[in-house]
Amino acid sequence: MWECPKCKRKFKRTNQDHYCGAAPQSIAEYIARQPEEVRPYLFQINETISSALPDAVQKISWSMPTYWKKRNLIQFAAFKKHLSLYPGPEAVEAFAQQLQSYKTSKGTIQFPYDKPLPIDLIGEITAWCGKKEGK
Ligand SMILES: [Zn+2]
Repeated sequence: MWECPKCKRKFKRTNQDHYCGAAPQSIAEYIARQPEEVRPYLFQINETISSALPDAVQKISWSMPTYWKKRNLIQFAAFKKHLSLYPGPEAVEAFAQQLQSYKTSKGTIQFPYDKPLPIDLIGEITAWCGKKEGK
């Protein structure tokens, strides 16, 4: 865990890029604090996730928008050039075929802002994470 020396917020990754200041309290607030050009992507992914997980709790966890139901089901975060989705390592493995053109790493998928978001795929991955719940 890394703590930003300026704002004291804690992040998983050292030198995680973020906007210094108090942690946002809601997903809407998180999105509102991102640069204007990035917001449409965040609204889009948030809408896709919330319709795939209508009964999950929406909150901020690890400074990231999080969908929760007994545990963190899926999270996302905005970066300078891409949006990261955190569905967990098993989901990334299960969808490896469909994710070939995207950069992935342990439990994370990167969607660059210069490509349209693969909404259907994100919906499928999210639903998969919801079904895995309870295991
Ligand atoms: Zn900071």
